[in-house]
Amino acid sequence: FRHGEASEVIVSTPSGHVSFGEHHPIVVVAGPCSVENETMIVETAKRVKTAGAKFLRGGAYKPRTSPYAFQGYGESALDLLAAAREATGLGIITELMDAADLPAVARVADIIQIGARNMHNFSLLKKVGAQDKPVLLKRGMSATIDEWLMAAEYILASGNPNVILCERGIRTFDGKYARNTLDLSVLPVLRSLTHLPIMIDPSHGTGRSEYVPPMAMAAIAAGTDALMIEVHPNPAKALSDGPQSLTPDKFDRLVQDMSVIGKVV
Ligand code: PEP
Ligand code: MN
Repeated sequence: FRHGEASEVIVSTPSGHVSFGEHHPIVVVAGPCSVENETMIVETAKRVKTAGAKFLRGGAYKPRTSPYAFQGYGESALDLLAAAREATGLGIITELMDAADLPAVARVADIIQIGARNMHNFSLLKKVGAQDKPVLLKRGMSATIDEWLMAAEYILASGNPNVILCERGIRTFDGKYARNTLDLSVLPVLRSLTHLPIMIDPSHGTGRSEYVPPMAMAAIAAGTDALMIEVHPNPAKALSDGPQSLTPDKFDRLVQDMSVIGKVV
């Protein structure tokens, strides 16, 4: 069981420091699943910033189930994230899949995401543990809480204390209506087990945009420190995860609704 105070993860962004943790307001991360082109990423960044997000998310390297599906635009997408960062002052969160890409990802990312599929990639965990950028560690889709916490330990033990845990839904026996089962019980459970800040991702957690707002609200009620919401200017045309993406207008409304029940920065 946890001993001691909640730790805070303080992230420097172009607009100043943003703190994640139990004693801080809720931090909202938003943006498309994949970075598709300059206009869409910069325009989405502007919209989510105006709505209240502090970080822009967007994948350059995408861990797709099929090798024939869109794999992300790689380094050129990192350049577009840098342009969106410059244009808006938002912090950037993007996924690292291969240690070889760490220098390029760390140049633009204010937080490095380790995706669900790499939660068990211990050599990658050690590498992000041995560098300075904060790490967002998503829960493996079939990982127990102890396995997830041990994955976080790999990063901490390698010297990086700045780890945020992200619940993104676990494998379900009934995938008919929701892509995953968003395990909101991790909020009280992790509070008793760890000092690390917790983020909830209802977009991957449900796979359906219409289920995202109620689960985001539920996460706030259960005490989340941060939320990750996928937002796309035209979900029907998205190169990945369109069905679970909110439009900028819907995201704007959601942040307003969230602010009624929680303190959102
Ligand atoms: C993502 O954030 O777009 C993503 C691929 O997430 P996960 O690793 O949770 O599937
Ligand atoms: Mn996605």
